[in-house]
Amino acid sequence: MFTSFLQLIYPRCCLACSQPLLLAEKKICTNCISSLPRPGLFLTSPNWLSNKFGGLIDYQDVHTFFIFSEGARVQKLMHQIKYKGEFELGEFLGAWCGYELSKFPDSMDYDLIIPIPLHQKRLKERGYNQASCIAKGIAQYINAACEDHILIKSTYSNSLIQQNRQDRFTVLASVFDVENINLIQNKHVLIVDDTLTTGATLLAAGEKLLDAGAGKISFLALAALK
Ligand SMILES: [Zn+2]
Repeated sequence: MFTSFLQLIYPRCCLACSQPLLLAEKKICTNCISSLPRPGLFLTSPNWLSNKFGGLIDYQDVHTFFIFSEGARVQKLMHQIKYKGEFELGEFLGAWCGYELSKFPDSMDYDLIIPIPLHQKRLKERGYNQASCIAKGIAQYINAACEDHILIKSTYSNSLIQQNRQDRFTVLASVFDVENINLIQNKHVLIVDDTLTTGATLLAAGEKLLDAGAGKISFLALAALK
Protein backbone atom coordinates (compact mmCIF):
# COMPACT_ATOMS: atom_id res chain seq x y z
CA MET A 1 0.00 0.00 0.00
CA PHE A 2 2.68 2.44 1.09
CA THR A 3 4.80 1.44 -1.93
CA SER A 4 1.86 2.12 -4.27
CA PHE A 5 1.42 5.50 -2.59
CA LEU A 6 5.10 6.36 -3.08
CA GLN A 7 4.85 5.21 -6.67
CA LEU A 8 2.08 7.76 -7.22
CA ILE A 9 4.14 10.62 -5.82
CA TYR A 10 7.56 9.55 -7.07
CA PRO A 11 6.94 7.20 -9.98
CA ARG A 12 9.86 4.92 -10.74
CA CYS A 13 10.54 5.07 -14.45
CA CYS A 14 11.91 2.62 -16.97
CA LEU A 15 15.62 3.38 -17.41
CA ALA A 16 15.32 2.76 -21.16
CA CYS A 17 12.08 4.50 -22.24
CA SER A 18 11.26 6.68 -19.17
CA GLN A 19 7.66 5.40 -18.93
CA PRO A 20 6.46 4.76 -15.34
CA LEU A 21 7.20 1.22 -14.13
CA LEU A 22 4.52 -1.09 -12.83
CA LEU A 23 5.05 -2.29 -9.25
CA ALA A 24 6.31 -5.70 -10.36
CA GLU A 25 8.76 -4.23 -12.88
CA LYS A 26 12.37 -3.51 -11.95
CA LYS A 27 14.65 -1.04 -13.77
CA ILE A 28 13.23 -1.79 -17.25
CA CYS A 29 9.59 -2.09 -18.34
CA THR A 30 8.17 -5.28 -19.83
CA ASN A 31 7.72 -3.64 -23.21
CA CYS A 32 11.42 -2.70 -23.39
CA ILE A 33 12.51 -6.14 -22.16
CA SER A 34 10.72 -7.68 -25.13
CA SER A 35 11.56 -5.06 -27.74
CA LEU A 36 15.12 -3.77 -27.12
CA PRO A 37 17.21 -4.55 -30.23
CA ARG A 38 19.03 -7.84 -29.62
CA PRO A 39 20.83 -9.43 -32.57
CA GLY A 40 21.24 -12.88 -30.95
CA LEU A 41 24.34 -14.57 -29.54
CA PHE A 42 26.72 -16.98 -31.31
CA LEU A 43 26.01 -15.46 -34.72
CA THR A 44 27.60 -17.25 -37.64
CA SER A 45 30.76 -15.46 -38.85
CA PRO A 46 31.46 -13.41 -40.84
CA ASN A 47 28.88 -10.82 -39.82
CA TRP A 48 28.77 -7.08 -39.14
CA LEU A 49 30.28 -7.62 -35.68
CA SER A 50 33.06 -10.04 -36.60
CA ASN A 51 33.99 -7.71 -39.49
CA LYS A 52 35.19 -5.18 -36.92
CA PHE A 53 37.99 -7.61 -35.98
CA GLY A 54 38.43 -9.20 -39.40
CA GLY A 55 41.96 -10.54 -39.72
CA LEU A 56 43.32 -8.35 -36.91
CA ILE A 57 43.45 -10.97 -34.15
CA ASP A 58 42.93 -14.70 -33.66
CA TYR A 59 39.77 -15.12 -31.56
CA GLN A 60 36.97 -17.63 -31.05
CA ASP A 61 33.65 -15.72 -30.70
CA VAL A 62 32.43 -12.15 -30.62
CA HIS A 63 29.03 -11.32 -29.12
CA THR A 64 26.93 -8.30 -28.42
CA PHE A 65 23.75 -8.44 -26.39
CA PHE A 66 22.22 -5.18 -27.71
CA ILE A 67 22.57 -3.06 -30.81
CA PHE A 68 23.51 0.49 -29.89
CA SER A 69 22.27 3.46 -31.91
CA GLU A 70 22.56 7.16 -31.21
CA GLY A 71 19.66 8.60 -29.24
CA ALA A 72 17.91 5.25 -28.81
CA ARG A 73 16.92 3.32 -25.68
CA VAL A 74 20.09 1.22 -25.51
CA GLN A 75 22.24 4.35 -25.50
CA LYS A 76 20.16 5.63 -22.59
CA LEU A 77 20.74 2.39 -20.66
CA MET A 78 24.50 2.49 -21.30
CA HIS A 79 24.61 6.13 -20.16
CA GLN A 80 22.89 5.19 -16.88
CA ILE A 81 25.38 2.39 -16.29
CA LYS A 82 28.46 4.48 -17.03
CA TYR A 83 27.62 7.93 -15.75
CA LYS A 84 24.57 7.81 -13.49
CA GLY A 85 25.69 5.37 -10.80
CA GLU A 86 23.44 2.54 -12.06
CA PHE A 87 25.89 -0.28 -11.32
CA GLU A 88 22.95 -2.51 -10.35
CA LEU A 89 21.51 -2.04 -13.83
CA GLY A 90 24.86 -3.22 -15.24
CA GLU A 91 24.72 -6.36 -13.13
CA PHE A 92 21.04 -6.93 -14.00
CA LEU A 93 21.69 -6.66 -17.75
CA GLY A 94 24.84 -8.79 -17.40
CA ALA A 95 22.80 -11.49 -15.66
CA TRP A 96 20.16 -11.36 -18.39
CA CYS A 97 22.90 -11.66 -21.02
CA GLY A 98 24.52 -14.55 -19.07
CA TYR A 99 21.18 -16.33 -18.89
CA GLU A 100 20.71 -16.05 -22.67
CA LEU A 101 24.35 -17.11 -23.25
CA SER A 102 23.90 -20.19 -21.05
CA LYS A 103 21.27 -21.53 -23.49
CA PHE A 104 24.13 -22.25 -25.94
CA PRO A 105 26.31 -25.29 -25.10
CA ASP A 106 29.35 -23.45 -26.52
CA SER A 107 29.17 -20.99 -23.61
CA MET A 108 30.49 -23.83 -21.40
CA ASP A 109 33.80 -23.50 -23.27
CA TYR A 110 34.73 -20.25 -21.44
CA ASP A 111 37.06 -20.73 -18.47
CA LEU A 112 37.33 -17.14 -17.24
CA ILE A 113 35.52 -13.84 -17.69
CA ILE A 114 37.75 -10.77 -17.64
CA PRO A 115 36.22 -7.27 -17.75
CA ILE A 116 37.94 -4.34 -19.45
CA PRO A 117 39.46 -2.51 -16.46
CA LEU A 118 39.31 1.13 -15.48
CA HIS A 119 42.41 2.98 -14.31
CA GLN A 120 42.56 3.19 -10.51
CA LYS A 121 41.96 6.94 -10.64
CA ARG A 122 38.83 6.60 -12.81
CA LEU A 123 37.63 3.75 -10.58
CA LYS A 124 37.87 6.02 -7.53
CA GLU A 125 35.94 8.79 -9.31
CA ARG A 126 33.14 6.46 -10.48
CA GLY A 127 33.11 4.11 -7.50
CA TYR A 128 32.69 1.00 -9.66
CA ASN A 129 33.80 -0.48 -12.96
CA GLN A 130 30.75 -0.88 -15.18
CA ALA A 131 32.37 -3.70 -17.20
CA SER A 132 33.03 -5.61 -13.93
CA CYS A 133 29.37 -5.27 -12.94
CA ILE A 134 28.29 -6.67 -16.31
CA ALA A 135 30.88 -9.48 -16.13
CA LYS A 136 29.76 -10.45 -12.61
CA GLY A 137 26.18 -10.63 -13.84
CA ILE A 138 27.20 -12.91 -16.71
CA ALA A 139 29.21 -15.15 -14.37
CA GLN A 140 26.03 -15.93 -12.40
CA TYR A 141 24.78 -18.03 -15.29
CA ILE A 142 27.78 -19.52 -17.05
CA ASN A 143 30.33 -21.85 -15.59
CA ALA A 144 33.24 -19.38 -15.61
CA ALA A 145 34.63 -17.18 -12.83
CA CYS A 146 34.80 -13.41 -13.21
CA GLU A 147 38.37 -12.23 -12.52
CA ASP A 148 38.93 -8.49 -12.35
CA HIS A 149 42.47 -8.55 -10.95
CA ILE A 150 44.22 -9.96 -14.02
CA LEU A 151 43.89 -7.31 -16.69
CA ILE A 152 45.01 -3.95 -15.31
CA LYS A 153 44.78 -0.50 -16.85
CA SER A 154 48.15 0.98 -16.01
CA THR A 155 47.97 4.24 -17.95
CA TYR A 156 45.44 6.96 -17.27
CA SER A 157 44.27 8.12 -20.65
CA ASN A 158 41.71 10.77 -21.42
CA SER A 159 38.72 10.00 -23.58
CA LEU A 160 39.63 8.46 -26.91
CA ILE A 161 36.60 9.96 -28.62
CA GLN A 162 38.62 12.69 -30.34
CA GLN A 163 41.30 10.35 -31.66
CA ASN A 164 41.17 8.62 -34.99
CA ARG A 165 41.22 4.85 -35.34
CA GLN A 166 44.97 4.53 -35.90
CA ASP A 167 45.76 6.73 -32.88
CA ARG A 168 43.43 4.68 -30.70
CA PHE A 169 45.24 1.46 -31.57
CA THR A 170 48.62 3.04 -30.85
CA VAL A 171 47.51 4.48 -27.51
CA LEU A 172 45.62 1.38 -26.41
CA ALA A 173 48.41 -1.08 -27.13
CA SER A 174 50.35 0.24 -24.15
CA VAL A 175 47.63 0.93 -21.58
CA PHE A 176 46.99 -2.61 -20.34
CA ASP A 177 49.11 -4.88 -18.15
CA VAL A 178 48.48 -8.47 -17.13
CA GLU A 179 48.99 -9.67 -13.54
CA ASN A 180 48.68 -13.18 -12.08
CA ILE A 181 49.49 -14.60 -15.52
CA ASN A 182 49.51 -18.16 -14.15
CA LEU A 183 45.69 -17.94 -13.91
CA ILE A 184 45.20 -17.53 -17.66
CA GLN A 185 47.68 -20.05 -19.09
CA ASN A 186 45.95 -22.03 -21.86
CA LYS A 187 42.56 -20.80 -20.65
CA HIS A 188 39.69 -19.61 -22.85
CA VAL A 189 39.05 -16.06 -21.71
CA LEU A 190 35.82 -14.16 -22.42
CA ILE A 191 36.71 -10.45 -22.41
CA VAL A 192 33.76 -8.23 -21.48
CA ASP A 193 33.14 -4.54 -22.07
CA ASP A 194 30.09 -2.30 -21.86
CA THR A 195 30.11 -0.75 -25.33
CA LEU A 196 31.84 -1.75 -28.56
CA THR A 197 32.30 0.92 -31.21
CA THR A 198 35.46 0.36 -33.28
CA GLY A 199 36.54 -2.69 -31.27
CA ALA A 200 39.95 -1.14 -30.56
CA THR A 201 39.75 -1.55 -26.77
CA LEU A 202 38.78 -5.23 -26.92
CA LEU A 203 41.41 -5.86 -29.57
CA ALA A 204 44.19 -4.30 -27.46
CA ALA A 205 43.09 -6.24 -24.37
CA GLY A 206 42.89 -9.47 -26.37
CA GLU A 207 46.39 -9.04 -27.77
CA LYS A 208 47.75 -8.46 -24.28
CA LEU A 209 46.07 -11.58 -22.85
CA LEU A 210 47.20 -13.78 -25.75
CA ASP A 211 50.78 -12.48 -25.36
CA ALA A 212 50.59 -13.34 -21.65
CA GLY A 213 49.62 -16.96 -22.36
CA ALA A 214 45.82 -17.18 -22.70
CA GLY A 215 44.92 -20.19 -24.84
CA LYS A 216 41.92 -18.64 -26.59
CA ILE A 217 40.03 -15.36 -26.36
CA SER A 218 36.45 -14.35 -27.11
CA PHE A 219 34.78 -10.97 -26.87
CA LEU A 220 31.45 -9.83 -25.45
CA ALA A 221 30.08 -6.31 -25.34
CA LEU A 222 26.77 -5.51 -23.71
CA ALA A 223 26.05 -3.15 -26.62
CA ALA A 224 27.69 -2.61 -29.99
CA LEU A 225 27.36 0.08 -32.62
CA LYS A 226 26.25 -1.47 -35.89
ZN1 LIG B 1 10.71 0.88 -21.11
